[in-house]
Amino acid sequence: MPNATVPCQYRTGRTLGSGTYAIVKEAIHIKTGKYYACKVINKKLMEGREHMVRNEIAVLKRISSGNRNVVTLHDYFETAHNLYLCFDLCTGGELFDRICAKGNYYEADAAALVRTIFTAVAYIHAGGIVHRDLKPENLLFRTPAEDADIMIADFGLSRVMEGGVGGDKLSLLTEICGTPGYMAPEIFKKTGHGKPVDVWAMGVITYFLLAGYTPFDRESQQAEMEAIIAGDYKFEPHEYWANVTPTAREFIQACLTIDPDKRPTAAECVEHKWLASATPHFVPDP
Ligand code: ADP
Ligand code: MG
Repeated sequence: MPNATVPCQYRTGRTLGSGTYAIVKEAIHIKTGKYYACKVINKKLMEGREHMVRNEIAVLKRISSGNRNVVTLHDYFETAHNLYLCFDLCTGGELFDRICAKGNYYEADAAALVRTIFTAVAYIHAGGIVHRDLKPENLLFRTPAEDADIMIADFGLSRVMEGGVGGDKLSLLTEICGTPGYMAPEIFKKTGHGKPVDVWAMGVITYFLLAGYTPFDRESQQAEMEAIIAGDYKFEPHEYWANVTPTAREFIQACLTIDPDKRPTAAECVEHKWLASATPHFVPDP
């Protein structure tokens, strides 16, 4: 099939990935020859939910390019049928695939990665934004290199918190959203949620990085939800955790604190002793 021409300026190529509402394609900007990732969102599929996309755009405009570990939105346009968002192209794939390929991460590598992601999470939180869908499928590597920058992508479910900077407790969000395995207990309890949900999700991601499987995986979604609400997880089976330090476990436990008020903030997590000594890997700017 011939490549479609995205309104005049871009030509789209292979599909990079797809999610609930969108297909993400590689796109070349014809004039400059530069490559981007173009998120193509079908308006029909989004009917009634267009506000989610407009929200994503508003969020990205606010925070894009302010942090090297958050994907930059370069361009946005729409046609009668589709919405198009052009981002930095990340060619290194999803963190999810790297975890699956490796089995699990060495603790020092995991700590460096988690520190980098948490620093970016603290940055978006400082801007008054909650991501709400942090998971290894939404964390992308900029290049295929082993030490490539990791990027937070997919702000489709994030919200600019009313009240702006610092406005988290006042404007509690109540609708159920996100991906079950990474969702914090307060989301299921519908008691309102804010920035602490991202810290919880990071706890689940850290567990996954170190063990190669997620902590609340159960035979049904109902059982999974009950386990999350009860904070019911273990550092087992033993052989997967034998080489993991108590400091790493304590870090995960802190992130997976059931009460969101008692959970550390992202900024506090960066200062946690498990991460404080981790050296974030940086690829020098070209
Ligand atoms: P959805 O909201 O539908 O989940 P995402 O923004 O997460 O959409 O994109 C879906 C998938 O497309 C991602 O999981 C990833 O594999 C791929 N993708 C998204 N953005 C980029 C990008 N900037 N560079 C490369 N691949 C991307
Ligand atoms: Mg996604």
